[in-house]
Amino acid sequence: MSTIKVLDGGFSTQLATHVGDIIDGDPLWTARFLVTNPNAIISTHLDFLKAGAEIILTNTYQASIDGFSKYMGLTEEESLDIFSKAVDYAKEAVNLYKKEIKGDKNIINENPLIAGSIGPYGACLHDASEYTGKYCSSVSEKVLMDWHRPRINKLIDSGINILAIETIPCKREGEALVTLLKEYPNTKAWLSFSCRDDGCSIADGSNFHNVITECYKKASRGQILAVGVNCIAPQNVTPLLKAINGRCKKEFIPLVVYPNSGDKYTVESGWIKEEGEYPLHQFVHEWLDLGVRYIGGCCRTYAEDIKKIQAEVKTWENKKQT
Ligand SMILES: [Zn+2]
Repeated sequence: MSTIKVLDGGFSTQLATHVGDIIDGDPLWTARFLVTNPNAIISTHLDFLKAGAEIILTNTYQASIDGFSKYMGLTEEESLDIFSKAVDYAKEAVNLYKKEIKGDKNIINENPLIAGSIGPYGACLHDASEYTGKYCSSVSEKVLMDWHRPRINKLIDSGINILAIETIPCKREGEALVTLLKEYPNTKAWLSFSCRDDGCSIADGSNFHNVITECYKKASRGQILAVGVNCIAPQNVTPLLKAINGRCKKEFIPLVVYPNSGDKYTVESGWIKEEGEYPLHQFVHEWLDLGVRYIGGCCRTYAEDIKKIQAEVKTWENKKQT
């Protein structure tokens, strides 16, 4: 059985192929469609499953009780219900997919898993601070835990298989989440950080290697499936990973990587296409050699990209077997 798991791609990017342009400046971003267009959510999950994703992420990255209350006038209970719905839509997509592939012997992802997406506190501040971590020094670990707890609770209660904790910009929030996870000893998670382009730091400037090894060690044994990085340009990934599982390192740390397409995001202008991008799938073998066990795409990656990643993973695995 494969030890590598292929994830899905940029949910908002693929969702836009069903609903037209999604306003990146919308404070609820794609979470709004959980209420307004469930069919498009299910179709987006299906696109990724058909492309070979073995794990799909719920559309809850930017969903929060405060966000739904402030921008949609919902109560806490109604807001939390949307989290359950997000899990239901992912389950429905998996069921539809399984019906579709029944009897097909060549399917790679027969039993896809559902990961509950947990974005950082900063994603809900709606000022791109998940890419800077600028709130981290003024928000305590307790506040962060209290803010994340109801979302994590609800996702777990709704039947996700694992938690995808993603785009975390600062050490304090990473540690708060690792501590919080101990309240759910039966739940496994990956922990992925938002990083700078300098090849060694997470968004708040802390050293990537130190933060991920400390978080990995601080966690209950076996609870963190992988640590790593997402939403970064593909060409900036390898320098970050190189320091983790080098030759002299005693303990192997499984890694998770799902970069964006390499386009640049600013609050003022949204996503801007970068000249001379490096296609993500070209790096797959390099990253798997460095210990990546969960691999997919983030913003601006489509189902088509997941297909290419899955093909590269298969080639790599076949090469290892011979
Ligand atoms: Zn992203």
